[in-house]
Amino acid sequence: MKTILVWNEYEHERVHDEVRKVYPQGIHEALADPLRKCGDFTVRTATRLDEEQGLSDANLKGVDAVVWWGHVRHHEVRDELADKVVKLVRETGMGFLPVHSAHMSKPFTRLMGTTGRIGGWREDGEPEHIEVKAPNHPIARGIPAKFSIPQTEMYREPFDIPEPETLIFCSKWDKGEVFRSGCAFTCDKGRVFYWRPGHETYHIFDQDENFRKILVNGVRWVTRMT
Ligand code: ZN
Repeated sequence: MKTILVWNEYEHERVHDEVRKVYPQGIHEALADPLRKCGDFTVRTATRLDEEQGLSDANLKGVDAVVWWGHVRHHEVRDELADKVVKLVRETGMGFLPVHSAHMSKPFTRLMGTTGRIGGWREDGEPEHIEVKAPNHPIARGIPAKFSIPQTEMYREPFDIPEPETLIFCSKWDKGEVFRSGCAFTCDKGRVFYWRPGHETYHIFDQDENFRKILVNGVRWVTRMT
């Protein structure tokens, strides 16, 4: 059984009542839930508030992939801890799966060698329309060719990342923006899957079945089960 560590900066849910109402157990628990339910993984969670920001050697021991959520505290993650995650990916083949606003997290930008910046965003709860661009990729298994998430935050290009090894999902909004939402990479020995949807004030991580299926598929892929 593969072991997964779900890491959360754990800021919004502690300090904002409106986020705590959406994710009362914390975003880490919402992300851990479908991974636990699928039965393929041993899942543990850690947060920035834990000892060594949740990234101690003991916490990372035997971990096959890290799922990472961060948003407003990226800069507080200590450099040596971010580098430790990067090294585990590159040198030992640990998987890494940054979700949504983790596009600016230290481990992701260091793995990519780019800023991870996006062209813009809009927090207005408009629907996101997602198209599968690589239907034969294992992460797209069982996913409809097109689907929508009813309430999202918009991200638009340009997204400062290297050309993905595989672009699996692309998103569009009704006002015309587009974004590369599901991007797969190989970084030396490790696999990385960036998965965009989600936001701390919308019920996506806990309620959107396509989001959750793709999260599970993504973790299977970054841990080389598929
Ligand atoms: Zn957001």
